[in-house]
Amino acid sequence: MVRMDRELYSGLIRLHILYHACQEPIFGLGIIDELARHGYKLSAGTLYPILHGLERTGYLRSAVRRSGRQSRREYRATPMGRKALTAAKEKVRELFGELFEEG
Ligand SMILES: [Zn+2]
Repeated sequence: MVRMDRELYSGLIRLHILYHACQEPIFGLGIIDELARHGYKLSAGTLYPILHGLERTGYLRSAVRRSGRQSRREYRATPMGRKALTAAKEKVRELFGELFEEG
């Protein structure tokens, strides 16, 4: 992603991550695939600082989950994250209406 585009889309990417973390526990590689599906190509080096930032803000909380020899860090939305998503949805709705309202 070009630098300017990344700035433009950074909020959308965060909302996207938050949305999925409200649905189910997410992990780094899974969310990279999910975002790629939507046309956002993020490297792990870009994604992890975003996840850490969301966790530091208090929107996500993470824990290492082990299955057999494998372990991965899973992120879930906190109550504060859910509240933030609900508020953001209103703002997205408003922007959406403006972007797509007819002539
Ligand atoms: Zn998605």
